[in-house]
Amino acid sequence: MQTSPAPQSCGDDDRISWIRIASTFLPLATPISDAKVLTGRQKPMTEIAILFVELETRDGHRGLGFTYSKRAGGPGQFAHAKEIAATLLDENPSDIQKLWTKLCWAGASVGRSGLATQAIGAFDVALWDLKAKRANLSLARLLGAQHDSVRCYNTSGGFLHTPLDELLVNTDKSREKGIGGIKLKVGQPDSAIDLKRVSTVRKHLGDDFPLMVDANQQWDRPTAQRMCRRFEEFNLIWIEEPLDCYDAEGHAALAAAFDTPIATGEMLTSVAEHNEFIKLRGADFLMPDAPRVGGITPYLKVAALAEHAGLMIAPHFAMELHVHLAAAYPTQPWVEHFEWLEPLFNERLETRDGRMLVPTRPGLGLSLSERVAGWTAAEAELGKRG
Ligand SMILES: [Mg+2]
Repeated sequence: MQTSPAPQSCGDDDRISWIRIASTFLPLATPISDAKVLTGRQKPMTEIAILFVELETRDGHRGLGFTYSKRAGGPGQFAHAKEIAATLLDENPSDIQKLWTKLCWAGASVGRSGLATQAIGAFDVALWDLKAKRANLSLARLLGAQHDSVRCYNTSGGFLHTPLDELLVNTDKSREKGIGGIKLKVGQPDSAIDLKRVSTVRKHLGDDFPLMVDANQQWDRPTAQRMCRRFEEFNLIWIEEPLDCYDAEGHAALAAAFDTPIATGEMLTSVAEHNEFIKLRGADFLMPDAPRVGGITPYLKVAALAEHAGLMIAPHFAMELHVHLAAAYPTQPWVEHFEWLEPLFNERLETRDGRMLVPTRPGLGLSLSERVAGWTAAEAELGKRG
């Protein structure tokens, strides 16, 4: 009887030898307002907190990852990351599933969602970046790409602090850049203003150009019902966050009642929270955010559940990361075009004919710009560089 040969070791015994974490505050050119500001729940946003993680191994391989927070939470993410970072030292960087679990349990007493998993997200993204770079593949290819380009839409031009005439100029600029859709913020206390802005932009774009709206959770159930009905005539790609982000049953009722697809999921911070929406069919378009759910590892679990349930996907924010993740989804995703994070990186994403091209550089294909050091408020280093 023949026996199989013993499996040969691939000789991979590389170890994580150095970790740097940095808390950076990226200023925004204009204070930003969505419906949460107009309903008085939040202040206009003036900066974005970014938590960067850089890793190096004994063999000299490197990875770069990041997570973010808006308005508050940046210093908390940094503090949590600093506490759990040592968990990764001397570990094999390829064991990403094991390392995610280790990082999670290191801080499990403060939960397996929210700020704790967001801090883990920066490490997890860095580990995937390292793995893809070592394989000399883009992250999309390492994951198994379905697309060389993905549909993209602009959000940054359609916020509520932008007057209507400027909104129209912004839509023209987006189209000139080859961006394939426009999203407008709605959900303000006076819904007549929402309707006027949407109908004016719809007329400006023509009947068929992809248009979405986003209420940022500011309607109650009766208002959402009424507004979804009013919006049916505008041939929208989706209505986003019509209700509180945890109201899965309410979102499911709207998705069942109206032809216009319902989109939600950006505020969810774990696989379990997404699974609730997937089970109840609370979204036609699911909008996972990899940094918010704890990185690429949990994002891929959400995407697998969404695919199995036949949902469409439109990852939230952070296009520099999500362009790769969206490229690995089987149906045509939408990626959100925001230029806000561009000053952090030396590279730029290309848009053409309504689509964003998936970068082919190894890993995420990103390097930090020189300006980042000037925006960095705190940093910590562990281990030794080789
Ligand atoms: Mg949104």
